Amino acid sequence: MNIGIIGAGVTGLTAAYDLTRQGHRVTLYEARPYVGGLAAGFKDEAWDWSLERFYHHIFASDRDIITLVKELGIADMLFFPSPVTSILKDGKCYPINKPLVGPWLERLPLGKTLSNGADLLATALRVLAFRPIPFLARLRVGLTTAYLRYNPRWQPLERVTADAWLSRAAGARAYEAFWQPLLEGKFGPYYREVNMAWFWARIVARTPKLGYFEGGFQAFLDALAAQVRAQGGDIRLEHHVRGIQPTADGRIRLELRDEAPLYDRVLATCSPAMLKERTPALPAAYAAGLEDLLSMGAVVLILAVTQPVSAGHYWINIPKREGFPFLAFVEHTHYIDRRHYGGDTLLYCGDYLEPGHPYFEMEPEALLERFIPGIQRLNPAFDRSWIRKVWKFSESYAQPVPLVNHSQRIPPLETPLPNLYMANMSQVYPWDRGTNYAVEIGRRAARLVGAAS
Ligand SMILES: Cc1cc2nc3c(=O)[nH]c(=O)nc-3n(C[C@H](O)[C@H](O)[C@H](O)COP(=O)(O)OP(=O)(O)OC[C@H]3O[C@@H](n4cnc5c(N)ncnc54)[C@H](O)[C@@H]3O)c2cc1C
Repeated sequence: MNIGIIGAGVTGLTAAYDLTRQGHRVTLYEARPYVGGLAAGFKDEAWDWSLERFYHHIFASDRDIITLVKELGIADMLFFPSPVTSILKDGKCYPINKPLVGPWLERLPLGKTLSNGADLLATALRVLAFRPIPFLARLRVGLTTAYLRYNPRWQPLERVTADAWLSRAAGARAYEAFWQPLLEGKFGPYYREVNMAWFWARIVARTPKLGYFEGGFQAFLDALAAQVRAQGGDIRLEHHVRGIQPTADGRIRLELRDEAPLYDRVLATCSPAMLKERTPALPAAYAAGLEDLLSMGAVVLILAVTQPVSAGHYWINIPKREGFPFLAFVEHTHYIDRRHYGGDTLLYCGDYLEPGHPYFEMEPEALLERFIPGIQRLNPAFDRSWIRKVWKFSESYAQPVPLVNHSQRIPPLETPLPNLYMANMSQVYPWDRGTNYAVEIGRRAARLVGAAS
């Protein structure tokens, strides 16, 4: 078949990889000048490795992406450090996964080979040592986490909100200290409405070991794109699909600036809202369902600075009530060695926001002015003379919001228009969206799109 794919993010590239292997003729249209979508990186002239526009890592449990990486023959590019993740409480950073027995443990060979079980134990001990809440509350956090981790059934959990379930199970103080900041950070005004199955999936699927690619995620994306091309796939960058039209003979016409090619089948990996806007022939009720799928946008400011800022923390979750101008502070070079970036310390200050928030329109310099006092609260010595360069990235479709009974709202991969399919982050569930699930849904879509009718 002659197959068109809209979008060369991880979903589109993976689908193209499988469809070209099946022997189909595949053309990918990508609006941007690069492949990789949300996971794509960029490179400053001083760096050897590229850096993701939005902070990225995978988990040791991310089976689908790890399988694909092995198939591509690039498994040796993937490595799994255990960086320190922390929570800010009353202005102080509390690591939640660092071994308690002392920093010397990390320097022993043993520290490098800690199994996931030992990593989890380290996290449990950290939670028990989290002094800002009473010991009994810490114990309830541990017991709640253990219950979720070993509970195999998420379906009953999607009928309640995470806010209600967690504050009941762990108690209000523990919930407010540990989990409410995380929910609020991701979902802003919707955080009380997100269902508990989504939270369950985070506990079940995540590991303290975080995987990264030598050369950055872009190295993996480039290898995947090269393989698609080697198998005959055609990737057309800076080709924005402006319209999607079914034809009388059951094919799909894509409308681009200078051409309107016809395909036997089309897979759209853009956002549901974009699909609706570009496809006027979609039935009204279905189009309204696409519009009802809520999502948050994301804004990050990346700073290249001359020296480390935090005391070894990779990721600091910052509760809204701490009054910072951003909700995540990610010191990438406490995860990946700064020698790959010409000695720069790389920081992300990020937030998930509703499209329309003023941060989306602000110039990088204006956002920097807004953020500097926050960085100085994390390290009072931080001075603007440390800043070498600043970049700002934003995306309006960055994080789907799974409400109660979300499974009943997810559209299938087939759209009501014959031969038009869609696969995107809003259909990933109960797992949190991520590159692993983009691979999974890309492969699932390829099986369907490539199957004989
Ligand atoms: C802030 C942030 C942090 C994240 N952190 C992680 C992480 O740590 N680990 C992880 O695994 N995942 C992470 N993710 C999620 C991960 O990036 C996504 O789940 C994954 O990349 C989605 O891939 P996709 O191909 O489905 O979508 P996208 O990456 O959005 O790709 C869709 C592509 O379609 C193109 N497109 C859209 N419309 C058109 C059109 N009309 N014509 C042509 N092209 C079009 C877009 O330009 C884009 O390239 C993060 C995402 C964000 C925003």
